[in-house]
Amino acid sequence: MPPRILIHGAKGRMGQTLVTAAQELGLVVGAAVDAGDDLAAGLAQADVAVDFSSPHATRALLELAIAQRKPVVIGTTGHPAAVKAELRALAARVPCVWAGNFSVGVNLLFALTRRAAAVLGSDYDAEVVEMHHRFKQDAPSGTAARLLEIILEERKLTAQALRHGRHGLTGERSPSEVGVHALRGGDVVGDHTVLFAALGERLELTHKASDRGIFARGALRAAQWVLTQPAGVYDMQDVLGLK
Ligand code: NAD
Repeated sequence: MPPRILIHGAKGRMGQTLVTAAQELGLVVGAAVDAGDDLAAGLAQADVAVDFSSPHATRALLELAIAQRKPVVIGTTGHPAAVKAELRALAARVPCVWAGNFSVGVNLLFALTRRAAAVLGSDYDAEVVEMHHRFKQDAPSGTAARLLEIILEERKLTAQALRHGRHGLTGERSPSEVGVHALRGGDVVGDHTVLFAALGERLELTHKASDRGIFARGALRAAQWVLTQPAGVYDMQDVLGLK
């Protein structure tokens, strides 16, 4: 029997893409739940839940998943930092894959960014630029946030180093700052570029998503993988064996 998947946020852009991708992959959509539907009843019809909804909807899903002992995949982004720590503690009580981006290419970009930041060191100014469709609710994107975390970890910097856009008389760029810029417009599915710029050369690592199916297929791969894992929070690097 293929696993039964609950899709949380089923009427959204990703939710609809997930329903189609699940059918194409021969998986069973046990329940398709959106705001106002009975989540507890839906979860009872499923072996694993996949969440691409809204940051304020994640807690209820996790609490029900703990009560019903069901594994979960969280793709929703934009949780405020303080809430996220609390939610991840809840998520650790069930098998959970939590990733700001489920594409294979982006997960390789994470690994390449870590390597580039380590090799190039602080002589190279690091900046992250992302672009998404005009409907996106949060900024910077979950993927940009993860890229920034990786750069900060490698440079031994804290979130204080982040510069969200620049405006006015900013003065010279300090070597210990990391810039982040969020562009919004049209129907762009998701572009991310990490730049490392020194005096005399510049390295740019770019990923462009043109079809939401890549996130849906990655999340469904994670849903099948997480079914056999012990409780704990995993990411897509675990699912893909990139660690
Ligand atoms: P969307 O606005 O098109 O869809 C969100 C859906 O969630 C809507 O149908 C909305 O009604 C529903 N929703 C809101 N509150 C709910 C609740 N309490 N319970 C159940 N459903 C609820 O957004 P989208 O473009 O589909 O993106 C959804 C989320 O997924 C966003 O946070 C986005 O950033 C994230 N995302 C993540 C990845 C990834 O790879 N991790 C990729 C794309 C999008």
